[in-house]
Amino acid sequence: MKFISGFILAAWLAVGGAHAADSKPPVVLVHGFFGFDHATLGGSFRYWGGFNDIAQHIKAGTGREVFTAGVGPVSSNWDRAVELYYQIKGGCADYGAGHTAQHAAAGHIQKPAGKCWAADPANNPEQYPLALYPQWDAAHPIHLVGHSQGGQTIRTLVQLMQQGSVGNNGAGNNNGRGWVTSATSIATPHNGTTLRDILIGWLPDASTLAGLAVQATGAGGSGGSGFKFRLEQYNMKASAAESFDDFFERTRGHSFWDLKNHDSAQWELSPDGASELNRWVKTSPHVYYFSFSARATESLSLFGKEFQYPRPDMFLFLQGMAGEWVVPSFGHRGMGSFQQTAAGRVPTDQRWFVNDGVVNTISMAGPEGSTIQALSGQPLKGVWNHIGTMQGMDHFDVIGWDAKPSASLKMYDTLMAILSRLD
Ligand SMILES: [Zn+2]
Repeated sequence: MKFISGFILAAWLAVGGAHAADSKPPVVLVHGFFGFDHATLGGSFRYWGGFNDIAQHIKAGTGREVFTAGVGPVSSNWDRAVELYYQIKGGCADYGAGHTAQHAAAGHIQKPAGKCWAADPANNPEQYPLALYPQWDAAHPIHLVGHSQGGQTIRTLVQLMQQGSVGNNGAGNNNGRGWVTSATSIATPHNGTTLRDILIGWLPDASTLAGLAVQATGAGGSGGSGFKFRLEQYNMKASAAESFDDFFERTRGHSFWDLKNHDSAQWELSPDGASELNRWVKTSPHVYYFSFSARATESLSLFGKEFQYPRPDMFLFLQGMAGEWVVPSFGHRGMGSFQQTAAGRVPTDQRWFVNDGVVNTISMAGPEGSTIQALSGQPLKGVWNHIGTMQGMDHFDVIGWDAKPSASLKMYDTLMAILSRLD
């Protein structure tokens, strides 16, 4: 944020607003690992805003339509990008013949039942959920905003739509140039997070990892929490009444949960998996990319060594993993001191210690191999325009889960001021 002077913002705001409200490209918000859309959980707690509503805040402030997408919470970015495409445009998800064949041994299905969205409400005999923005095309572009893994997902969607892939990409068939004006990532593990490797080392079972994430998001509980795994492409459909625990017990042995399955979020959130993703998901020269970073740790030097420790206002659940040691498991290094130097793997050194409780701050500005620059004026296409680092905000503060919504809402106001210049 500090990179943007008040003067530049004021200048942008002064020339913005050339479009009528109904012609402004909508914003599509894409959640992270273990996230959910408005509809997935009952009650008034939202992924985007906590007990506030970021989508409504943007709508009220800009007159712009805002959609909150719901994609596979534990799925790979390929699968999530395919679902995002059909959810916005309408149709039944097709994960592609090539991709499906690659993961057939794990039980992948190319066109599973139950992953459809209706483009036309007047022609919807199957009563599918309605597509978010069926008119989406080059003449009706959108702005994508992703939190955490959502930032990896939106750039994967751009890649699949604009470049296609070997085999069948299943998402737009190479026709997507001009459909996405901008892609913004918020606290995204572009190069992975050491938290994944710490958890795997501590609890070497991806299903336990998933359970912890459910606890963190408050999505668990017994008796039909409403949380959806959206794993129909692996033939794992939870019934409406099935609790998280029951679903988990029933599917525990499925090869999807195997750590060797690289078509999954847990792999692509690791530094090694993110590196693999970054080898084929490139930065498009036709799209504006923006990023926000977050930091909720502070340095402390002890015996000549400097490590990171969680600020006291970090979300309590995250504090146990963010510092020098996993608490209460002393002996296992936390994100604030974890390093990885094994041959053949992505090295993580002391520059990775700073974190927001879930993701290393160094990973958030943009993917390795792309050009990353501090945004200081007119943004550029084809590079990651880094808006700034949100100091003192943890991984869930940036989506408004804390009690003080003013800081996070201001972040979205800044972003909207920037996007208004691109319409
Ligand atoms: Zn897949």
